[in-house]
Amino acid sequence: MSGFHNSSNKSASRAAGAETAGSKSAGKKGRILTGDRPTGKLHLGHYSGSLANRARLQEEYDTFIIIADMQALTTNFDRPERLKEDVLQIALDNLAAGIDPRKATIFIQSLVPEIAELAMIFSMFVTVNSLRHNPTIKSEAAERGYRDLMYGFLGYPVSQAADIAFCKADLVPVGEDNVPHVEQTRRIVRRFNELYRPVLVEPGALVGEVGRLEGLDGNAKMSKHLNNAIFLSDPPGEVERRINMVVTDPARIHPTDPGHPEVCTVYSYHQAFNKPFSEELDENCRAGRIGCVACKKRLGKAINDLLEPLRARRAEYERRPGDVEDILREGTARAREIAMATLREVREAMQIDYFTFQGGTGAF
Ligand code: ATP
Ligand code: MG
Repeated sequence: MSGFHNSSNKSASRAAGAETAGSKSAGKKGRILTGDRPTGKLHLGHYSGSLANRARLQEEYDTFIIIADMQALTTNFDRPERLKEDVLQIALDNLAAGIDPRKATIFIQSLVPEIAELAMIFSMFVTVNSLRHNPTIKSEAAERGYRDLMYGFLGYPVSQAADIAFCKADLVPVGEDNVPHVEQTRRIVRRFNELYRPVLVEPGALVGEVGRLEGLDGNAKMSKHLNNAIFLSDPPGEVERRINMVVTDPARIHPTDPGHPEVCTVYSYHQAFNKPFSEELDENCRAGRIGCVACKKRLGKAINDLLEPLRARRAEYERRPGDVEDILREGTARAREIAMATLREVREAMQIDYFTFQGGTGAF
């Protein structure tokens, strides 16, 4: 097992609000909500940004993992037919990463329609300008070449706020790019609680050890859609092949030339996944004592060691596709129950619970 895994406990960092937010009280487990868009398989960036924390914290927190298929549609509405396969792959990636379905609840966003209802309510008091100024919306729109933004894309942080608020999550393990969304969620929840009644919980963000893992191409972010990723499900040979493609320090021609680790993507991966080695590597690279080929070999081994247990768990679940479907079905049923209860409280707080005189608590 790599140093990354061993040290993840200490260095996962909390963003603003994590310490103070939430409903966690003595004896009561706190709640986590986190998840992914089913737009392809998960990669090492997801692992370092969020998955490692999820797997670690599921013991301590009542953990909800959302497979955000509606949010996937914000960029992939023209190819909905891919969702079915991608939902399965995301479930497998989470299970492979060590999510235990007896401890955590994995569910499908669109099958909990109360989330959409809550997002609709939130949208009444979120300004278009606050969404336009969200730095992640800005950078994602620029990267995808969007100029005239779709309503659903611009509004996805509102939908994400509903994903988090429906289950009253205290803590949201995310990569750095998602921190503005958690902050927006806090503002939305605060506004709701002030406007109506304090029924929702302000969550905190928990950013992983490496909040933004760079891409194989040197891009600032490893991403599903940029073809610059090592996927958690890649076989060992593919991991090695992909690492060999990475461009290293361009100033280095011969293995004995002094290197500059600070500009090298391979070095950043050693720091993320092979920490103890990265310290001696820094010195040896600068002194020209280790060449790029040997350095990449060491990295391939470290990443393959990290991924080996994930591959084994994945293979186990792949043999039982019916069980994976059951996990999703049961997880979604549990999420839906909680969402219905929260929406009853939300409607009550807003006094739009029309039929209470019939003895019910809501409008359903
Ligand atoms: P897409 O290209 O579909 O947006 P994505 O790679 O951004 O895919 P998401 O499903 O949007 O993945 O993100 C899931 C979680 O993983 C989020 O918490 C996000 O911040 C985190 N994450 C994604 N990419 C990285 C990365 N390169 N480094 C660290 N965390 C990441
Ligand atoms: Mg994303």
